Amino acid sequence: MKNIYVVRPSLPSLEEYTSEIADIWESHQLTNAGEKYYQLQALLQRFFQVQQVELFCNGHLALEIGLSALELTGEVITTPFTFASTTQAIVRTGLTPVFCDIRPDDYTIDADQIESLVTERTTAILPVHVYGNLCDVEKIRHIAEKYNLKVIYDAAHAFGVSKSGVSSACFGDMSMFSFHATKVFHTVEGGCLTFHDAALAEKVSQLRQFGMHGQDDVPTVGLNAKMTEMHAAMGICNLRHIQENIDKRKRVFERYSERLSDIKGLSINRLKPAVSSNYAYFPVLFDRKAFNRDEIAEKLAKQGVFARKYFYPATNEFACYRGRFPIQETPIAKHVSENILCLPLYADLELDDVDFICDALLK
Ligand SMILES: *Cc1c(COP(=O)(O)O)cnc(C)c1O
Repeated sequence: MKNIYVVRPSLPSLEEYTSEIADIWESHQLTNAGEKYYQLQALLQRFFQVQQVELFCNGHLALEIGLSALELTGEVITTPFTFASTTQAIVRTGLTPVFCDIRPDDYTIDADQIESLVTERTTAILPVHVYGNLCDVEKIRHIAEKYNLKVIYDAAHAFGVSKSGVSSACFGDMSMFSFHATKVFHTVEGGCLTFHDAALAEKVSQLRQFGMHGQDDVPTVGLNAKMTEMHAAMGICNLRHIQENIDKRKRVFERYSERLSDIKGLSINRLKPAVSSNYAYFPVLFDRKAFNRDEIAEKLAKQGVFARKYFYPATNEFACYRGRFPIQETPIAKHVSENILCLPLYADLELDDVDFICDALLK
C-alpha cells in the first residue's frame, strides 16, 4: 500500500535549480537583497500586477511586519477559521483580535457581521481568503472607508487567484502571501507583502532588517526576516512553472468535484463564476448528523490516505487563549472546523489516486 499525503511540494528539476544558483557561486552574495531577490521581486510585481512587493523569510513574519508597519493599535476584527499564524500575528504585535463569524458557503469572514463588531478601539480588519475563496472585498472596503480602518488580507491561500481580472494581491491596504513549501507557489520557506503605498516600503524593509536604515541609523525596533538568495532562486524556478502547476491542480480538483458532487451529507467547495481559482485545496464538509469527520479521517488513514483537519481547532479555541474569547459568538466557524476535511491535492497527484481516495471516502 502506498501512502498519499495531503500535499506534496512541487520542485523544479535539480538541473534547473543548480543552474539558477550558479550565479550565486560567482557573486558570493547569499542574502541581504542580492540579484535573485530583485529578480523575484520584479517577476512577482508583474505576476501580481502590483507596484510594491517585499519578500520575507516566511509568511508569518511578513504578516507581523505588515501589522507593525500599518501602526495599528487596539482591536483588529478577524476570523477564527484560519491557520494559527493569523491570530498569533495579531496577538504577538500587541493587538487584540475580535472574532467575526464566517459564511457557511465559502468559509470567509461574514462581512455582514463586521460592522456590529466595530468599537472606538478598532483600527483594522484582517480577513483571510480561505482555500483561495476571495472574501467579500467590496463590502469590506465600504466598511473600512466608513470607519477609517486599515484592511490587511491574509492571502496565504490565494496565490494566482483573481476576480474579474483583478489579482488577489490588489485588495485592501496590504496582502500577505506565504511561500511555504506546501503552498501553490513556494520558495521552500518564504512570503511577501503586497501593497500600493510606496511610503510603506521603507518602513517594511527597516522592520525586516533589525530596524536599521543604512548601517549607522536605527530608527525602528525591528527583527530579522530577510529572504535569502537561495530561497529567491527557488521562487524564480517555481514561478516559471506556475501555470502548468495550476492547470494540473485543476484536473485533480475537477475529478474530485465530479465524483463528490450530489452526495447526501457532504458539501464541496463551489467556485464563484467571476473568480479564477488556483485550485489550492479540496475541502469537504460533512453533515454531522450523517457522518463523523474524525472517524472518516481515521479510516482513510488506515488505507494510506492522509487527509487533514484544516483548520481545526478554530483559533479562538486554542489552549493558549482558553477563556479569553467568547467562542459561542462564532458558531459557524466552530461547526465548520469540527466537520471539515481537506483531501490530498497537489499538482502531481494521479487521477487514479483521486479515484482511489473517492472510492475509499464513499465507502
Ligand atoms: C501558511 C499560512 C500562513 C503562514 O505562512 P508561513 O509562510 O508558513 O509562515 C498564514 N496564514 C495562512 C492562512 C496560511 O495558510
